Amino acid sequence: MIVIMKVNAPQKAIDRVQQEIEKLSYTPHLVEGATRTVIGVLGKKPLRGMQHLQSLPEVSDVLEISTPYKLASREWQPKDTIVNVGPARIGGDTVTIIAGPCSIESYEQIKIVGEAVKASGGHLLRGGAFKPRTSPYAFQGLGVEGLKMISQVGKEVGLPTVVEVTDTDVLEVTAEYTDMLQIGTRNMQNFTLLKAAARTKMPILLKRGMSATIKETILAAEYILNEGNKQVVLCERGIRTFVDHTRNTLDVSAIPAFHRLSHLPVIVDPSHAAGKRHKVLPLALAGVAAGAQGVMVEVHPNPEVALSDGPQQLVPEDFQDLVERVRIVAKAVGKGIE
Ligand code: PEP
Ligand code: MN
Repeated sequence: MIVIMKVNAPQKAIDRVQQEIEKLSYTPHLVEGATRTVIGVLGKKPLRGMQHLQSLPEVSDVLEISTPYKLASREWQPKDTIVNVGPARIGGDTVTIIAGPCSIESYEQIKIVGEAVKASGGHLLRGGAFKPRTSPYAFQGLGVEGLKMISQVGKEVGLPTVVEVTDTDVLEVTAEYTDMLQIGTRNMQNFTLLKAAARTKMPILLKRGMSATIKETILAAEYILNEGNKQVVLCERGIRTFVDHTRNTLDVSAIPAFHRLSHLPVIVDPSHAAGKRHKVLPLALAGVAAGAQGVMVEVHPNPEVALSDGPQQLVPEDFQDLVERVRIVAKAVGKGIE
């Protein structure tokens, strides 16, 4: 952290800042310019209680220069983290394909999709059992029955599964029936849920909050890592912007931004960004071109009658086409699909 003094700040004010820094058991380090003094705050322990320096007389700015997250930071771990979910791996130089319906609707539905995902070379089967819907009148998911269906189909087709956990009260049962826990955009900063999910020691797919910055997202991951669970995958799924031609704006630039700051794998969810089927393929390709290590796509055998997110779900044939094209882009950027 550095404290930037105002131009021509008097020595008295500079001394006062130094005293405050020492009071907190850190060491001040003075850099005197022609008109301005900058004071570095040095110390081994994490910087705490420093923000009040901002309100001292003649202080212009207080800037953090080291990251507020440590465990998720690439400074602390330069090597990419690889997250293993059964036989599937996420991270490094591969592109992992995760696909399945928005909501699990019946055994037949998830079975058709499970078989299609497997046949097209997908690595994980997704499906929602507890759905976080905007309207209380919308389909809320099949709950535990849905969990049982995806668990059974996952075993039958030979794919590990990922299901969103929406609340601590369904954590135990979700963990029992699935291989990876998803924390959705609406819960990215539900810190109680993050910590409880982390303690299951299961791999966690953490979606970026729809209005969250890169730093806030990495700090949410830090909550999980801080509980001793290193198996975290970050997911860019589109953010709220002023535009109205798309459900959310896929922030492609978030992918290299996450990679620069964190060693955690980054995947992209073009479905929830697009909102409409025709945008899913180009956004998936853009995400992979920008360095995403996985793609999560919604697939439904008959999207016209889907109980949630029908307009954005792909039919199995279109999904197969997407996998083939993702393969080409992955190869072009030096990655492979196992
Ligand atoms: C989902 O993946 O089913 C979902 C609800 O996504 P998000 O949290 O990104 O809206
Ligand atoms: Mn959905």
